[in-house]
Amino acid sequence: MDGEAEEPVALSDLRAEAVALIDDLSEAELRATIEYARDRLQFVHPEVTEQIEARDGEEIVRIDDRGAYTEVVKRQPCATGCDECPHEPILYHVTEESQLDGTTDLHWTYLGRVYEG
Ligand SMILES: [Zn+2]
Repeated sequence: MDGEAEEPVALSDLRAEAVALIDDLSEAELRATIEYARDRLQFVHPEVTEQIEARDGEEIVRIDDRGAYTEVVKRQPCATGCDECPHEPILYHVTEESQLDGTTDLHWTYLGRVYEG
């Protein structure tokens, strides 16, 4: 240590017991904790790309994480079904929006049909 670094202060969201445990860890244990916390977060709150699933009759063509939004291309049958189904796939931008109750919802923005392989 260079003696100039200030001891970090945990955000108030972190329980005092957790801070006390973390403060006792070695460097190797800290690295393992960061990795575990990242996996744990993914488990309790999957990324948008992990939350998207094809519904009945749909086919997900591709999902791309673009940072601010997730690009989803999927084929889906018309609501009533028609003789021409399935049509060209449809491009959506999907974002995750926080609700007042603390949960999140996926918001789908329709961008139109795409002509790709
Ligand atoms: Zn159709």
